[in-house]
Amino acid sequence: MATHEVTNQARPFEGLNLFDINQPLQAALQRHHPGFDRARFRALGQDAGSAAMQADARLAHTHTPELRSHDRFGRRIDQVEFHPSYHALMAAALRQRLHGSPWAEGPGSHVERAAAFMLFTEAEPSVLCPISMTFAVTPALRANAAIFAEWGPKLADTRYDPRFVPAAAKHAVTMGMGMTEKQGGSDVRSNTTRAEPDGEDAWGRRFRITGHKWFLSAPMCDAFLVLAQAPSGLSCFFLPRLLPDGTVNTLHIQRLKHKLGNQANASSEVEFDRAAAWLVGDEGRGVPQILAMGALTRLDCALGTAGLMRQALSVALHHSAQRHAFGKRLADQPAMKNVLADLALESEAATALAMRLARAVDRTEHGLDADGHEAVMRRVLTPIAKFWICKRGSAFGQEAMECLGGNGYVEEQGEGVMARIYREMPVNSIWEGAGNIQALDLLRALRSGPVADALMHEVAAARAANAAVERLAMRVRHGLDEAGDEAQARRLARDVALLVEAALLHDSSPDAVFDAFCRGRLDEPSDVFGALPAGCDLDAVIARAMPWEA
Ligand SMILES: Cc1cc2nc3c(=O)[nH]c(=O)nc-3n(C[C@H](O)[C@H](O)[C@H](O)COP(=O)(O)OP(=O)(O)OC[C@H]3O[C@@H](n4cnc5c(N)ncnc54)[C@H](O)[C@@H]3O)c2cc1C
Repeated sequence: MATHEVTNQARPFEGLNLFDINQPLQAALQRHHPGFDRARFRALGQDAGSAAMQADARLAHTHTPELRSHDRFGRRIDQVEFHPSYHALMAAALRQRLHGSPWAEGPGSHVERAAAFMLFTEAEPSVLCPISMTFAVTPALRANAAIFAEWGPKLADTRYDPRFVPAAAKHAVTMGMGMTEKQGGSDVRSNTTRAEPDGEDAWGRRFRITGHKWFLSAPMCDAFLVLAQAPSGLSCFFLPRLLPDGTVNTLHIQRLKHKLGNQANASSEVEFDRAAAWLVGDEGRGVPQILAMGALTRLDCALGTAGLMRQALSVALHHSAQRHAFGKRLADQPAMKNVLADLALESEAATALAMRLARAVDRTEHGLDADGHEAVMRRVLTPIAKFWICKRGSAFGQEAMECLGGNGYVEEQGEGVMARIYREMPVNSIWEGAGNIQALDLLRALRSGPVADALMHEVAAARAANAAVERLAMRVRHGLDEAGDEAQARRLARDVALLVEAALLHDSSPDAVFDAFCRGRLDEPSDVFGALPAGCDLDAVIARAMPWEA
């Protein structure tokens, strides 16, 4: 006999077109690449919001990767087994051209790819680790023309092929990176892994690599860029899992990491035992060489966190619009309205900032930067977006989870997505250079060109429109001129981020959003979400974020 009826529980957030409901993302695309392929995004939005893709994400996180170090006869095989849903998601990411494809496409390709990457993140972010590295490796790998001639087209091919066979037998390949060692990750100059010269062949100077990496994500990638100490100093190498003659290279997977989140993706500890690798770029110049890759994975950290924010916001809005408490929908309770509007502001600002950086990448990569402005913005916004968006992610995830009350905290075999989002959030802040490293990189960027002038040019219209923006701009200008004190680096990074976000919202968002952002972030900033000052148009901000009937 039934003991009770289940009522007042929200329906699952599924079956919505995630592109159609994302007005800030549409605005960013419209602004940075007005000719964007709308049909592509409508199709992706439909897929990413589908119950089928959500099921793949749940299964890939529930049935996590397993290391198979040896076969049953005791021979090393060093392979990782994934659930079929992981492969389905990887195949979808390649079909969506989130990996190397934009390098082979025309102007706007990086803007489109960035927006698609954000949308896909809302379906599942873990697989985007190898996808991001496969995207980011191209500029660095070009420095070895022979290898790039063979591998470049395969890095952009959309036919995912997870087989453990030599690259020559595959249409598409994936790549990862190995920098971090036990004794140092941020300070890679402390790397101890050695590279000994071993002759020369069609791929250039060959070396033998001996040592370890403490973090090597996605170890089933077909090849990696790794840092190792060569006779002339720290250098960058191309290290394939399988050698051209089909033999397995001596990269041994020691174990997989037990991580807080990012469960569907394998991250490993590895050792190299005289593994064959080829020099990429100049010997002794490994750090700048591999950072050509790192700068782009930092872009993806910002995009990924902005995507996760949007996902968490959508679920929170969807739930609050259906759940009733104290005689009203949660979404109509004034205190909850303030929380939802505040989250919506943060999400829109993050989307705008990440997409602005993508535009700078696009313009510079496609030679559309005659006056050099985009190059300066790319240099300065890479650490800014990585630092600020990723830093805000965890607090955002916590607050969005709280909107669902106890249901937010419960996973129920992976179906409760808020807990997964919350566990995923910190990783983008830590990997590819944690918060302090980004803030310190801002100080380095200030020495690289006319940053202050470029920034002030960028925010001029918003300064004229709002007194709080003008005050912040003055403070930033002073801070940039005085920059050098590392103890103040985060403060400056935060201020630059807020200033640029305000300018972007001024240019592309409704007045209610820009106004509330200026009041709640610049005039009367708060340590918690949901404390926007009186006078903000909460309804308008929420309506912008939630154009669907729950
Ligand atoms: C899930 C996951 C996957 C990863 N995958 C990969 C991978 O595929 N390949 C790879 O190479 N690495 C990978 N990493 C490693 C990651 O990039 C490093 O953990 C990160 O760069 C930090 O290095 P560390 O762990 O050695 O910490 P440290 O370098 O010891 O840093 C610790 C803290 O000190 C701060 N700090 C460092 N220097 C300074 C300074 N001068 N001033 C002030 N503060 C400072 C940092 O900001 C950080 O907060 C992965 C990490 C994670 C969590």
